Amino acid sequence: MTGSYSLIIDGKQVQGAGQFPVRDPATEAIVAEAPAASLNQLDAAISAARRAFPAWAALSHVERKAAVLKMADILETNAAELAELVTREQGKPIGGLGSQWEIGGAVAWTRYTASLELPVETIQDDANGHVTLHRKPIGVIGSITPWNYPILIAIWHIMPAILAGNTVVLKPSPNTPLATLRLGELLQQALPPGVLNVVSGLNQIGQAMADHTGIDKIIFTGSTATGRKVMASGAVNLKRLTLELGGNDAGIVLPDIDLDATIEKLFWGIFLNNGQTCAALKRLYVHDSVYEEVCERLVAYAANIVTGIGLEEGNHLGPIQNEMQFNRVKGLVERAIIDGVRVLCGGAPRKGEGYFYPVTILADAKDGMAIVDEEQFGPVIPVIRYTEIDEVIAQANASQNGLGGSVWSSDIEKARAIAARLECGSVWVNAHGAIRPDAPFGGVKQSGIGVEFAALGLAECTSVQVLHS
Ligand code: NAD
Repeated sequence: MTGSYSLIIDGKQVQGAGQFPVRDPATEAIVAEAPAASLNQLDAAISAARRAFPAWAALSHVERKAAVLKMADILETNAAELAELVTREQGKPIGGLGSQWEIGGAVAWTRYTASLELPVETIQDDANGHVTLHRKPIGVIGSITPWNYPILIAIWHIMPAILAGNTVVLKPSPNTPLATLRLGELLQQALPPGVLNVVSGLNQIGQAMADHTGIDKIIFTGSTATGRKVMASGAVNLKRLTLELGGNDAGIVLPDIDLDATIEKLFWGIFLNNGQTCAALKRLYVHDSVYEEVCERLVAYAANIVTGIGLEEGNHLGPIQNEMQFNRVKGLVERAIIDGVRVLCGGAPRKGEGYFYPVTILADAKDGMAIVDEEQFGPVIPVIRYTEIDEVIAQANASQNGLGGSVWSSDIEKARAIAARLECGSVWVNAHGAIRPDAPFGGVKQSGIGVEFAALGLAECTSVQVLHS
């Protein structure tokens, strides 16, 4: 399982010019050494993708769709191995809402993506002329992924890109490269050489991709700070960009929330993947009349949640994925305590090996505290009291981010009307973060540019050509 890993360049497994260790966040032990691509190897991967592009773009949609469906089958056949690898390097549990669920989602997303089409649109067809709109592949797409859902997010990038006729150079996060390298190796069975290349390396490989004129578009998922760098560097050749960036999603609980019906969804909307989910609920605004009750119910639900080693059965949540993120979460909570929050559960890391941090619920949080204003990306929720709905909507919108949001109420019409006033790309009523492959997903404001999923997401992997004849 922990074996050896190679770059995938032009259909072949290639040894990295160097290597770097990948750590198991549950034990801090090294899972395996990952290959570190040199800049020359990145060039080779981009050249291979450029060479493969004309023939891949020239295939029919039906032929490329068949390849995408074959990739779904390969993923499904190898799901157990990939899930175990994700758990070893990422930390999340194998079962529950963990790595098997992630790989299952990747299979479902791949199959759904294969069903998408971008038919020719007729703009004019009469005696005066014929004008049609065609979708063309862009060229070489660079995919840069984060460490929270390494396989699922890679699938979100590469499947629409490949279906639309592009070729790809994929760079996983240095924290979680192993499952992605193995994925790249397995998927070669469905693709001609050079259509999908995988280069792991440290952050400078991502920067070199953003700088590279051989890449026509970048699909990037990661932090807003890095997204800005990708955008600035991409200007070198006017790269097309899809940026899926950080979020600081607000959830607003109205006085008439049905807690029996929604507490489970509320908890997992916050703590899915240990809060290391882009569109997780990260600031919870609760009306004064139900404030203490909501806090108590969340704490009661949390009491049944077991955090532990992902490979061991019965654990609902694993460790935080890496030491830097662990220290950030720890620091934010320490500061929040100094700022005056009330710790209802958790509040300090578990002693011993591994980056384990318990589910932490912080009452009496206020806007202006770092734990509220910044993205914590960990198993911690600040709960903020409000009384006026207009004020709380303004508070929810007072953020540079605009990824997701939610409203919790038993009056669906009232909740919808409030949801419509939230400045974010996705907004849910009595749920949070429930994404699906047939609904476009993306951030507004500094949470991103463009969308993924559905026909709109596929369209972002194409350029428009209008034929006047
Ligand atoms: P990150 O920005 O640190 O890294 C993301 C990727 O960018 C990694 O592969 C990294 O190696 C690469 N990278 C680093 N420096 C680079 C540079 N200068 N140029 C190009 N690439 C570079 O993010 P992370 O810590 O891996 O992920 C956590 C963040 O991702 C959170 O903010 C989270 O909200 C966000 N995220 C967003 C979505 C979404 O869909 N909007 C999904 C998942 C995660």
